[in-house]
Amino acid sequence: MTESSPYDILFEPVQIGPVTTKNRFYQVPHCNGMGYRDPSAQAAMRRIKAEGGWSVVNTEQVEIHPTSDIAPFIELRIWDDQDLPHLARIAEAIHEGGALAGIELAHNGMNAPNLYSREIPLGPMHLPVAPDTIAPIQARAMTKRDIADLRRWHRTAVRRSIDIGYDLVYVYAAHGYSGLHHFLSPRYNQRTDEYGGSLANRMRLLREVLEDTMEIADGKAAIACRIAVEGEYGPNGVHREDIQGVLTELGELPDLWDFAMGSWEEDSLTSRFGPEGSQEEHVAGLKALTSKPVVGVGRFTSPDAMVRQIRKGLLDLIGAARPSIADPFLPNKIRDRQLESIRECIGCNICVTGDQTMSIIRCTQNPSMGEEYRRGWHPERVKPKTSDARVAVIGAGPAGLEAARALGVRGYDVNLLEAGRELGGRVTLESKLPGLSAWNRVRDYRVLAIEAMPNVEVFRESPVTAEDVLEFGFEHVLVATGSTWRADGVGRFHTTPIPVDGIEVCTPTDVLAGRLPTGQRVVVYDDDYYYMGGVIAEALRAAGKDVSIVTPSAQVSQWTVHTFEVGKIQRRLIEAGIVRHTDHAVVSAAAGGVTISSVYTEQTTQLEADALVMVTARLPKDELFTQLEARIGDSDLLTVRGIGDAWAPGTIAAAVWSGRRAAEEFEMDLKPNDEVQFRREVTALDPIWPGVTLQATGAGK
Ligand code: ADP
Ligand code: SF4
Repeated sequence: MTESSPYDILFEPVQIGPVTTKNRFYQVPHCNGMGYRDPSAQAAMRRIKAEGGWSVVNTEQVEIHPTSDIAPFIELRIWDDQDLPHLARIAEAIHEGGALAGIELAHNGMNAPNLYSREIPLGPMHLPVAPDTIAPIQARAMTKRDIADLRRWHRTAVRRSIDIGYDLVYVYAAHGYSGLHHFLSPRYNQRTDEYGGSLANRMRLLREVLEDTMEIADGKAAIACRIAVEGEYGPNGVHREDIQGVLTELGELPDLWDFAMGSWEEDSLTSRFGPEGSQEEHVAGLKALTSKPVVGVGRFTSPDAMVRQIRKGLLDLIGAARPSIADPFLPNKIRDRQLESIRECIGCNICVTGDQTMSIIRCTQNPSMGEEYRRGWHPERVKPKTSDARVAVIGAGPAGLEAARALGVRGYDVNLLEAGRELGGRVTLESKLPGLSAWNRVRDYRVLAIEAMPNVEVFRESPVTAEDVLEFGFEHVLVATGSTWRADGVGRFHTTPIPVDGIEVCTPTDVLAGRLPTGQRVVVYDDDYYYMGGVIAEALRAAGKDVSIVTPSAQVSQWTVHTFEVGKIQRRLIEAGIVRHTDHAVVSAAAGGVTISSVYTEQTTQLEADALVMVTARLPKDELFTQLEARIGDSDLLTVRGIGDAWAPGTIAAAVWSGRRAAEEFEMDLKPNDEVQFRREVTALDPIWPGVTLQATGAGK
């Protein structure tokens, strides 16, 4: 980097108590669905972030005690010494990558239903567990003894964390996931003792835990405090004045302040509902209340936006979870001025769905995320080619683009053939829908990369038939021809066609191609449950139609509960004047109307309508694959593989992953598919079996 780089400021060191960062790029703690179940997978993932230039790489929340158990979610645990080897491996891996290792200790307080440990949840008051769970379990108001216990557990966890090599230790008071946050919040804390009431009382426990932590750390590790600055649950939540008060009183206690929002949902806004840097209004002015460095997030992918945060005095460190997931090498790319190769986060929250579904993290933009250990994938590198074979990739949607890119990186000669003029397939089309413009980055990153590769040739306006493939003498073909939405109503609810007669029927395929229904009154049938039903309804409303939306589910776009969008989608539909009919399925449609039926009572209702838009399911466009597969052996064709939606319609993330997989596996010796295709860790058996007896467990002591 030259002296005059406008981004030099991002590469300045920052002193955090006893440690110094090498730059201002800071991977804040983030969940990943790996946790205690997949510790080596997590270690490999974090190491790659460190390798990519992040100066601090943190774990996700680490439960400090069995009373902080948020099962079924899979996070890390530091309950006792048994957990330490997992955590030590992660710290070691982060160090190997060249970063400082941070650990986010957490007591989940009344957010921990303790479904695994069966301990009684601990909160400021007797209240049902909240905010992330609706289990029929109540937290018990903590006594002074409980408070003393909590402080002792936290001190022990701090000691253990430092002993196993962590450089930075967190005190967690954000996202509604921390007992310290619950104590701060008048919503959850109406205690009448010295831990409730005034702000000074509500922050007492936070102060005590911070003081304990500083004392134990004793300069051997930096101490960070992650605090919710805004966005919590209506008028009696934690708000700006409270945080200003906390910073005024406790501002000099820890070595670093990490500003977060009152809920993870508000912290990780999707691009559909918030722009880059959307936390700025909440963070502005807080840095002035402490002399300690501060870090915050905002889905920062643009180096100019990052520089602005520093120059405006909003932040000292650029925090990132999602941008570091989409591009673990973001810092190094900025350092090396390779801005065109940055893989920008699209703000879709598919990464969040990994944690939310208790499965391993995945990312739309970075198909290697979560596969670093399991399959040995790397975000920047792919194994070199093993022959001079030429590969034809047919279809330039997310699957075809990623396959062509990754095969190109491997060094193969690739012909990418696309029927249309534009590249990007469904991404190009869907990014025109309301709120989805950032999704284009999936295409742009790959097209830019491909354009820079002399060994990848792109042919637009080239619809390919099986005869063409054979005529050109292609030996290896990947078929990435995508899918089409079905118009017959078959989906989850109905697995046979819905009777329809005399009414206009459309699908998202039509709407995306610009063929909107001609009728004024439109019923959208969402039996898909991801974003498409809601966003098509929005698009049609914006085009001036009278729109109602019907779904057998309890909410429109129900699966977006995992992307933190479901509530925001309902709100947007209501505000747009779109009528929602939930818990209902379309059962038939005829001229002038659509008949819907309650999924519980089968009672039917008539909706007046001129058109019905089926958002139910898709069919793969796999004719080309089928035809080609039949010709292997009686032509030059040696291999053909279907990828992406052409193989099985799914998410854009799944299509990208499938393209990457095909490229990674091309000409590799693969295990037969009766064997597990990836590395995994299996719980080690307790060596003392069968000697366990009730007495030996020490229960009740
Ligand atoms: P995926 O999500 O699996 O990548 P998409 O539907 O986004 O699938 O993209 C499929 C792409 O394939 C589209 O751009 C489409 O125009 C292109 N395509 C479909 N059939 C052919 C074909 N026979 N020849 C060339 N391109 C095709
Ligand atoms: Fe960003 Fe989506 Fe990847 Fe998450 S899954 S990091 S939101 S691109």
